[in-house]
Amino acid sequence: MTAGHGHDGPFIPVEEYQSAILAAITPLPPVSVTLADAEGCVLAEDVTAAISLPSFDNSGMDGYAVHAKDTISSSERAPTTLQVTSEIAAGDTGTYRISPGTASKIMTGARMPDGADAVVQVEWTDGGTDRVRVHRPVEPGNAVRYAGGDAAEGETLLSAGVRMRPMQIAVAASAGRRAVKVRPRPRVVVLSTGNELTEPGTPLVPGQIWDSNSYMLAAAAREAGALARRRSGVPDDPAGMLPALEEQLDGADLLITTGGVSMGGEHDVVKAALQKLGTVAFRKVAMQPGMPQGFGTIGEKRVPIFTLPGNPVSAYVSFQLFVRPALAALQGAGDLALPAARATLTASVRSPGGRRSYLRGVLDGDQVTPLSGQGSHQIAALGRANALIVVPEQDTSLPEGRAVDVLVLPLSLLGQAGTTRRSLPVSGWRGRELTASAWTSGSARPVRSRAARRSALRPGRSTSRSVSASTSTPRGVCVAT
Ligand code: AMP
Ligand code: MG
Repeated sequence: MTAGHGHDGPFIPVEEYQSAILAAITPLPPVSVTLADAEGCVLAEDVTAAISLPSFDNSGMDGYAVHAKDTISSSERAPTTLQVTSEIAAGDTGTYRISPGTASKIMTGARMPDGADAVVQVEWTDGGTDRVRVHRPVEPGNAVRYAGGDAAEGETLLSAGVRMRPMQIAVAASAGRRAVKVRPRPRVVVLSTGNELTEPGTPLVPGQIWDSNSYMLAAAAREAGALARRRSGVPDDPAGMLPALEEQLDGADLLITTGGVSMGGEHDVVKAALQKLGTVAFRKVAMQPGMPQGFGTIGEKRVPIFTLPGNPVSAYVSFQLFVRPALAALQGAGDLALPAARATLTASVRSPGGRRSYLRGVLDGDQVTPLSGQGSHQIAALGRANALIVVPEQDTSLPEGRAVDVLVLPLSLLGQAGTTRRSLPVSGWRGRELTASAWTSGSARPVRSRAARRSALRPGRSTSRSVSASTSTPRGVCVAT
């Protein structure tokens, strides 16, 4: 299982491989999207307060706007009586004024009348309409929300690099922004290769398996903020492999293949096909699972491509260690690193020497329990895991009770926003043909013409169609449709 893989050179440490990948990734160019489409995207500009927030002094409670000094001697036993001269509701844009001895009935969010310096909440009064009895004294400023009390005009409210989650969307809306500049969600196409693969739900002939990787990786990509679609069951046929990739090039910001890299000879279809291009490097990474890795770029636009191993656990771990950081870099995002923790092993573990193991485990507080079934093909344990236990390269076993590093697996569902928004068109996405259904139907269909495809993988040749089509307005670029 070492040199026989046909991957080139000696073992490369995990961090070194990660750095090499990140060095080759350029963030996607920013686009302007309306707030409704910004959900889940990463801000590519600072959002500042165009005006102070709030922009006018207003009441923080339902009550009565008063001169505070009129209430100084108020008590339950000797309430102060004030004349109510107006009633001001939120949204009332009229101008009001009170004079000493009078009050305005006022609602939360309504603009303060001139002359008032405090609000007495309704609970401290008799709630009167023409006249009000105030039972307690208030200080100037009581229950008043002053202009600029939330943010000053010109203040930076959101910084570039922050992800537009519900809170940030609220901030941008409160600052009056209709649209914001963001990096769009990367479009990921997952291709699973293997003659043995069939669609889940179809009958199995002995010798076949259901394709789990393409579903898993598309979901993992969405969880990392991407749009993803799958092209499953690419046959183990080197002649068919490149065309299958070429078909996806124009509609993808990142490609992932699984399978076809762990064996030598004619079955090594992904490697055989991509090696000819000379732009994808196949390396042996000092880790388990996931040792045979391939990464590079293809096509004129140098679309990053990962060739992940076929075993599902290897593919998953490889995704989290290598593809997820690449997706973060494409988005200019700093929030996708898997949280690291320290925990105590509840049972001993074993690991091959010279490679770092990422064992599936269940993290519970400061304890982590290794799951049984640690084979790269053993998907059942993967389904129970919430963490990866890191066993350092030099260790071949660790005893129960030993403190270890763990990586906490993501549980957020960043990509699910779009499931309720199927109708949103994605056509015209940076000028290229792509329909919403292509991203929801689960299948990756060709998105470019035969002519454009023919030359796509040959550096230096123009793909005129894909360039000239970039005229329409980007819409819906940031929603998982
Ligand atoms: P390969 O890398 O093609 O040699 O595949 C290694 C192992 O992973 C084999 O047992 C394959 O059957 C399995 N495998 C490959 N692709 C998939 C997939 N998409 N879903 C589930 N298992 C797969
Ligand atoms: Mg295979």
